Amino acid sequence: MRRKIIAGNWKMHLLTDSAIDLAKSLAESIKDVDDVDIAIFPPAPYLILMKEVLKDSNIKYGAQNMHFAEKGAYTGELSPGMLKDIGCKLILVGHSERRKIFKESNELINSKLIAAINNHLTPYLCIGETLEERESGKLFEVIEEQLTIGLKSISEDDFNKIVIAYEPVWAIGTGKTATPEIAQEMHLFIRNWIKKNYSENTSEKMRILYGGSMKPENVKSLVSQPDIDGGLVGGASLKSESFSQIIRFSR
Ligand code: PEP
Repeated sequence: MRRKIIAGNWKMHLLTDSAIDLAKSLAESIKDVDDVDIAIFPPAPYLILMKEVLKDSNIKYGAQNMHFAEKGAYTGELSPGMLKDIGCKLILVGHSERRKIFKESNELINSKLIAAINNHLTPYLCIGETLEERESGKLFEVIEEQLTIGLKSISEDDFNKIVIAYEPVWAIGTGKTATPEIAQEMHLFIRNWIKKNYSENTSEKMRILYGGSMKPENVKSLVSQPDIDGGLVGGASLKSESFSQIIRFSR
């Protein structure tokens, strides 16, 4: 039985006071939950505050993006070592907004995954197809390419340190959730890809999250699918009440 993960992506929202309030209120409301892994991805300026705010909680935190290099002339970027230094345990890699707006390629995402693993940060690898790709029937091809290039030269041992988040781009921030059946179909495809390219044992262990307009009302039907192991939540993670309900309803 795979342990569920519910992770919140705060994107570019909140300011100092609201970020602290949200983290504190969430920590308080789910302090008794010990059977779900809980994570948040706040904006970079607030990560250092999380070290103190979340120190006695069951919530892990990480950044939404990083560079793959350890240091150097990369103005505006953050290194894996810096993130580790401020207590991050996790890192989002390849979110569709990074792929689309910041033109991140599968090759770049591969370099970031390798850097994260080398620095003992758990990468959450985000993959997903656009509506156009789905409607043109290329959806499985696109996911296969994201996996094949994104995971290039990552050993089975290292692959086991990764979490995968399947986030159909057409369902992110749109209010359009994939039906549990549509999501399950792709989760099974991903699990089978892992089985073929790594092993059955690894495919059975890998946690594959769904992301795309997840809310308290739909979480149960999604996570009750056999290959959906939790969620990566955007909008609904910005309110302590809705995010803690998602966590509770995922059990
Ligand atoms: C996300 O940003 O990863 C996401 C799933 O957003 P939302 O829940 O708002 O669709």
